[in-house]
Amino acid sequence: MTLMFGTTPSGQPATLYPLTNTQGLRVEISPYGGTIVRLLAPDRHGETADVVLGFDTLDEYLVRSPYFGCVVGRCANRIAGGKFALGGKTYQLAQNNSPGGIPCHLHGGLKGFDQQWWRAAPVSSPEGDALRLSYRSSDGEEGYPGNVDVEVTYTLTADNALRIDYQATTDRETPVNLTNHSYFNLAGEGSGDILGHVLTLNASGFTPVNAGLIPLGHVAPVAATPLDFRTPHVIGERIATANEQLRVARGYDHNFVIDRRHDGLVLAATVFEPKSGRILEVHTTEPGVQFYSGNFLDGSRVGKHGHACEHRSGFCLETQHFPDSPNQASFPSVILQPGLTLRSTTTYRFSAR
Ligand code: BGC
Repeated sequence: MTLMFGTTPSGQPATLYPLTNTQGLRVEISPYGGTIVRLLAPDRHGETADVVLGFDTLDEYLVRSPYFGCVVGRCANRIAGGKFALGGKTYQLAQNNSPGGIPCHLHGGLKGFDQQWWRAAPVSSPEGDALRLSYRSSDGEEGYPGNVDVEVTYTLTADNALRIDYQATTDRETPVNLTNHSYFNLAGEGSGDILGHVLTLNASGFTPVNAGLIPLGHVAPVAATPLDFRTPHVIGERIATANEQLRVARGYDHNFVIDRRHDGLVLAATVFEPKSGRILEVHTTEPGVQFYSGNFLDGSRVGKHGHACEHRSGFCLETQHFPDSPNQASFPSVILQPGLTLRSTTTYRFSAR
């Protein structure tokens, strides 16, 4: 059964698609941006709370959301100067972001996948309730070459995971790097900052950035830095440490290189919230994960139930290929070739203790 969620700009009724399982997990997805609008997860006493930041109404998503819960594409994160060369041609994309006063292309541009209406189709899956979203990004959209057909399937499994399967094909070579931009607060949205959450990252390296938050091009060890989350650490414990990387990013906003011992899904991150007991585990087939501690949230936006979206009131774990990959020859390639299919899977699994 679908829910109503306002009206589209063309006056059509807009829908929200709920997925549920028997363990008390529930997610509600909008075809606008493929957005996870609500995600209800039980705490250690079985009490559910909505653990993602967002808005109560579609109109607020339409006006300007800080990428709450959406699919990000064609290219997640930043591309230096909004420029890249491919097949002997230089492409200039929109420069829609300028950290440190240095312009770059962010999250697919002025009207990325986060602001598109996706076709939605509930699908029957033996693993649980599922919703398939599809979108055709036309040749030249946001300055990128080639027609790209994208499918994102959300499945809510019986073992309390929200699985996201991404698929993309193209008719011309083009960069594609997809992620989901949910901001989590495992104590429940509106319950303050996330600095008390305990984070573990399965990453011995990260890609350090310059003042424009563009990777310098190498992988640096996390050892002996406040970015070492190989053992559990409270997020707030070292966030104010004098450290050049934390200073330029105003906190954590870095791509971590996942330690991978085999192909397929590997553990990227575990987060534990002590008050509620909620645990989030992230597994992915991707090589990297952007851990973003919500540094640019400043309380100026009012989110669900009138709650201001305060500084660091949500964190993101955006599984991805590395930022600025189209300009970084040493990073795993994000160039999708015609005739090949991009496939990528990430699972967000919830439990409590
Ligand atoms: C980026 C941040 C950016 C945020 C926008 C994150 O993926 O890493 O630098 O400000 O998205 O909401």
